[in-house]
Amino acid sequence: MRIFSKSKLLALRQCRKRLWLELHRPALRDDSAGTETSFRIGHQVGDIARQIYDPEQCGALIDVNTEGFAAAFARTQALLSGDQTIFEAGFSWGGALAFADVLLPMQVEGKKAWRMVEVKSSTSLKDYYRDDAAIQSYVARGSGMPLHSLALAHIDNGWTYPGNGDYRGLLKENELAEEAFARSTEVQGWIAEAQQVDAQPQEPAITTGDHCEAPYACGFYDHCRSQEAPPAEFPLYWLPRIGSAALDTLASQGITDLRDVPDEQLNEKQRRVRRCTVNNSEFFDAEGASADLAARGLPAYFLDFESIQFAVPLWAGWRPYQQAVFQFSLHALDAQGKLTHHEHLDLSGNDPTEPLARALVASCGGSGPVYVYNAAFESGRIQEMMARFAHDAALVDGLAGIIARIVDLLPIARERYYHPSQHGSWSLKKVLPAVVPSLRYDALDGVQDGGMAQEAYLEATHPQTAPDRKAALRTQLLTYCKLDTYATVRLWQVFAGRTELAL
Ligand code: SF4
Repeated sequence: MRIFSKSKLLALRQCRKRLWLELHRPALRDDSAGTETSFRIGHQVGDIARQIYDPEQCGALIDVNTEGFAAAFARTQALLSGDQTIFEAGFSWGGALAFADVLLPMQVEGKKAWRMVEVKSSTSLKDYYRDDAAIQSYVARGSGMPLHSLALAHIDNGWTYPGNGDYRGLLKENELAEEAFARSTEVQGWIAEAQQVDAQPQEPAITTGDHCEAPYACGFYDHCRSQEAPPAEFPLYWLPRIGSAALDTLASQGITDLRDVPDEQLNEKQRRVRRCTVNNSEFFDAEGASADLAARGLPAYFLDFESIQFAVPLWAGWRPYQQAVFQFSLHALDAQGKLTHHEHLDLSGNDPTEPLARALVASCGGSGPVYVYNAAFESGRIQEMMARFAHDAALVDGLAGIIARIVDLLPIARERYYHPSQHGSWSLKKVLPAVVPSLRYDALDGVQDGGMAQEAYLEATHPQTAPDRKAALRTQLLTYCKLDTYATVRLWQVFAGRTELAL
């Protein structure tokens, strides 16, 4: 009989087919970049948890990858007779196995007992963590260890890092012992169900749906989709702002293609998208776009930021998952129509904010609109810089002046332009190839989107990255961000009808 790990039982909880595929066709799994990033963050938080729960570094760490399962379980049993904090203690019982992030010795009424802490990199207690805790407690208690308390610790995003490696306060605990202890019959049922799924000769007939994304993005999605009927030629999700309730209603009417949606169920913009899609034609209200921009002349600036978040803050004064802007690109178009470029990129690995904020104020001039694409992001980051440097009135004034001049091109694009190749999206990456086909992100070497920019930043700031690799990453980042603002320039030019400018 197969022994199921906690992750396999959690896969079952998400989808029986997922478990079957993990057991019998694991090579079909293709995890997204987002899933890989989650694993990386999880490991990072796990490392910090060891510092927090074992500041004297007297604890024992069990590494199943090097020790093997049998040795890991045996060493856990040996360590349970001592008083050390144990990390990754392993247990097997009742057809399941599990490893505990942290085990802390304690005394209850004069007797030795243990407190288990499971560490998560999220910022709240998710419902599906309760299943995780139930499995941990079932296996650990079943194996005979005196588990008295079981907590789930997640990141407290209201906490501020004081610096000097002091991460006490990063994690917030939620006691789940009572609830987890009461669910052992349920866990037994999951193990029995996992055994049934395992014994099935064929993968279960389950179609894709919302469950494929929650609680985890499933790596078998492409495989499952390939088994299903081909998607509609013009799928419903291309309709802008179509809510899940409307999609459900349409699905219940057997409608999967936007051509079949009754007119009265669409708003004006959705009807426009459908018209452009079906006729393969572009919509451009050139007069309206030009009127939207007419009041704002030259000089003009075009701004874009690249940023990154750290679950575990690196710099004093930072909160978990706070956005750190490490780069900006700024094109400036003067009154004579001459275009110049300014940029700032900090790969020192230090807090990049103050030098960047000062360079930004120095580069943005004193007047003229500052165009961005999706203003909430840039405005939000500048406001955070203002809060950070509230003690520096001149810097705050300079940043506030930039916010007051920001003009967002996204709402103009949404209202005045649509091309069928956008497939219902007005992201810059979708709009740019339609408006200015000569500008392409996929022709860039290396970094081609925001996620890749973050990966490049992490690699470039890693102390072990070789100087020539760091230089190559710097070039890729600068080229990518420069294209983002040049794209905004060209978009503005088309929308403003300023085709006489040689840009
Ligand atoms: S993609 Fe969806 S249906 Fe397929 S195994 Fe994963 S969760 Fe199940």
